[in-house]
Amino acid sequence: MNVRVKSAGDILDANCTRCRALTNHTIVAMVDGRVARVKCNTCGGEHNYHAPKEEKSPVVRRAAAPKERSSSPAAARKEKDTAPRYHEQWEAALAGKDEDKVKEYDMSGKFAKDTVVRHSTFGLGIVTMVVGNKMDVLFTDGPKLLRCGK
Ligand SMILES: [Zn+2]
Repeated sequence: MNVRVKSAGDILDANCTRCRALTNHTIVAMVDGRVARVKCNTCGGEHNYHAPKEEKSPVVRRAAAPKERSSSPAAARKEKDTAPRYHEQWEAALAGKDEDKVKEYDMSGKFAKDTVVRHSTFGLGIVTMVVGNKMDVLFTDGPKLLRCGK
């Protein structure tokens, strides 16, 4: 098996806890030669690295010392504290958008990427991705996956 040596600053695919999708991440911290902490290039959120399921080899090296889960409650809380980052990102995404073109959110409505939508619960958001009848919308408190018309 050819294992590429990764180091901080490298880009890898990881499951983003916020985007709830496999996105490009930049490695920010390595521990014992493993990726420990990554930053999502999509939402900018930093979180502990969760290896994508597909990459997990069914053959677990038993020789390796059992690793303690590094996700302490403190670390989890720290991740939540990064939530205000969304607000800045959201502001930047909405900057320069034409408010006259705001579309009311409707789960059967058609939305294109970069459309500004108004949601009755989440407020103003911007469509960042449309896949089939679902779309990612960045709201001030983070991205949400919403239904939309195909
Ligand atoms: Zn993300």
